[in-house]
Amino acid sequence: MRFNTSLLHAGVQREINGSTLPPVYQTSAFEQDTAADLEKIFENKAPGYCYTRVANPTVTAFENRITKLEGGIASVACASGMAALTNVFLNILRSGDEIVSSASLYGGTIDLFEDLSAFGITTRYVENNNWKEIEAAINEHTRLIFAETIGNPCLDVTDIKKLSQIAHSHGIPLIVDNTTSTPYLIRVLEHGADIVVNSSSKYINGSSNAISGVLTDSGKFKWDKEKYPGLADYVKFGPMAFVAKIRNGLFRNIGACLAPVNAYLNLIGIETLGLRMERECGNAYELAQWIEDTYPDIKVNYPGLKSSPWHDIADGELTNGYGAIFTLRVGSKENAFKFIDSLTIPYTLSNIGDTKTLVIHPGSTISLHSTEKQKEDAGVFEDLIRVSVGIEDIEDLKEDFANAFNVIKE
Ligand SMILES: *Cc1c(COP(=O)(O)O)cnc(C)c1O
Repeated sequence: MRFNTSLLHAGVQREINGSTLPPVYQTSAFEQDTAADLEKIFENKAPGYCYTRVANPTVTAFENRITKLEGGIASVACASGMAALTNVFLNILRSGDEIVSSASLYGGTIDLFEDLSAFGITTRYVENNNWKEIEAAINEHTRLIFAETIGNPCLDVTDIKKLSQIAHSHGIPLIVDNTTSTPYLIRVLEHGADIVVNSSSKYINGSSNAISGVLTDSGKFKWDKEKYPGLADYVKFGPMAFVAKIRNGLFRNIGACLAPVNAYLNLIGIETLGLRMERECGNAYELAQWIEDTYPDIKVNYPGLKSSPWHDIADGELTNGYGAIFTLRVGSKENAFKFIDSLTIPYTLSNIGDTKTLVIHPGSTISLHSTEKQKEDAGVFEDLIRVSVGIEDIEDLKEDFANAFNVIKE
């Protein structure tokens, strides 16, 4: 199946009663016929459901669709993108281990790495795509490499293939946050990443009506028992080792499961992922190019523009578009606030991937807790505005932005 067909049909079983969407199994627990049947489920010797914190059929339907879209072998859906990232890291790492990560990250992930340091897990930040610096940061304690496909809000594009080759040459996995790209732009597992995480609160849901996150395993990474002692008992499951461990341990014990109704909302949203991304990426491209052509004083950062330092990498690995987020530098924080307040169509809020255009001043919001160095690494400046472009009519967006540019010119 091709992309748009698979959004509608892949991975979901036809329902017995013919419903066209998987029903919402709004229940905490599932009864079995006999005590022995329940025992088998607890022992993982029979398929079936016992308790929604562990698994739920509506959530399974969502996981299966994501697995197909990302081209992995299994997925685990969580209460949020942050919960999915936490599960991935803690499933692999223990005290004394190190992470090598791109410094251009979503602020919440930087905060999470800070939290992990209390448990003896250290993160070494490197400049994205700086191969020498990345090689130099890897040592005998490094257990994974982490990056975002398109960094948020720096909008640098990671060369996934090269980064995965470096990771694998050191016997460690590459974990990629694909939230800003989605499998519409790139299937990172096919480019060499071992585990992909999506905050499905964003483009996958599409209308900002539920928080959720999902991790997908390629099943290809060979876990060394000595390097990854936590996985030693699960290596017998072969390609399913990582997911078997997470399902039997951390995921159920942390308890950040996805609510069935949120899985259902995601299953509705995902059907139009291709259509929305096509329109949002198209709108972003047109708006960014028009601003660059029309307002030479304004610095536009968008991977789709030839002026982006990451345009060539984006051209080489992304298909169908360059994402739907761009940033503007408008000269000062005062201008940025004036500009944002003059826009009438976009919502001013901290989110991306909505059908509606969203704007934010990252410096005073999502990067508020970052150090100056972290802000610089993440490409956050005092005069920066981030725009997540929606599906509105492009002429309305242009008129609205033109008006805001006039206001700051005055
Ligand atoms: C939003 C976001 C997250 C966190 O996801 P939540 O669903 O809000 O927990 C992680 N990474 C990126 C790139 C994001 O944009």
